[in-house]
Formats: sequence, structure tokens, C-alpha cells
Amino acid sequence: MEGERAETVLVSACLLGRACRYDGASRFDPALDRALAAEGVELLGFCPEEAGGLPTPRPPASLSDGDAAGVLDGSAQVVTDGGADVTAAFLAGGEAALAACRAHGVGRAFLKEGSPSCGVARTHVDGLSVDGPGVTAQLLARAGIGVTGVDGPGGERGPG
Ligand code: SF4
Repeated sequence: MEGERAETVLVSACLLGRACRYDGASRFDPALDRALAAEGVELLGFCPEEAGGLPTPRPPASLSDGDAAGVLDGSAQVVTDGGADVTAAFLAGGEAALAACRAHGVGRAFLKEGSPSCGVARTHVDGLSVDGPGVTAQLLARAGIGVTGVDGPGGERGPG
């Protein structure tokens, strides 16, 4: 309707072409880009791991001693392949994503599958791909934001 502001949706920045993945690559998804363009929504690209203060490139990380709910509740951690505890950065990134959603009235998020941050149906625990969400996806879902997992071009290729 004329005068109505377009809906803003949050999208994992790597799916929009930003080279923010742990390996310094992006995962631009033309099909997602076309679908969201057809909806006429505003895109808010966001990378929780960078927002949490982690550099790019960075060591791959995965959940440890539990799942994303455990990370949010303090009973599980996020650890790099080299053994560094990056839980605080992942939590900070998730909180920043939620704050961005609230600031922009976001009710839907499209997030990169498989990531320990952004994965919705799949994430990484102890270096293995498993069912379940990442930290940011879990946090957004708890806040009532609709999260949709997106594999990206070529499907799942390791932690995001
Ligand atoms: S999957 Fe999420 S955390 Fe990983 S690079 Fe993409 S936006 Fe950043």
C-alpha cells in the first residue's frame, strides 16, 4: 500500500555476498536474492560472528558440551578447532543480531544453514554436522522471530 514502509528481513550477510565466512568466502545465494526481491522486502545483512568481534578469516568453531540452548543458558560452550573458547563472542553476536532485529522491526530472518551461529535445522557440535540450531538462530527464535534456514549455493559446506 502506498505510504507503507516495506518489511525489513534480516539475512545472514554471507548469503548476500559479503565475504564474512570463517574461511574468508561468501555464499551469495541468487535464488534467495531473487525471492526476497520479488517480495519487495528490505534486506538487513548481518554477520553475528563479525558483530561479536571475531575476525575474518577466523578458525572454524562448533558447539561443545551441549546445544545452542545450552550455550544460551550457560551450560555449553562454543570452541574453535584449536580449542579456544569463543562463547562470549558468539553470545555477543547473537545479542547484536536480536538488537538489530528489534531496531528495524524485523519479524523474519533467513539464516545460513549449518553454521554454529546461523544454522536453523543443522549446526556443528564438536566438529560434526548435527541437527539443531546455532546460537543466533536459537536466540532469535526464542525472541519470537521466524527463522528460515538457507543452504546457500551448493548446499551445506561446513561451518559458517
Ligand atoms: S553463517 Fe552467519 S556467522 Fe557465518 S559468515 Fe554467514 S552471517 Fe556470518
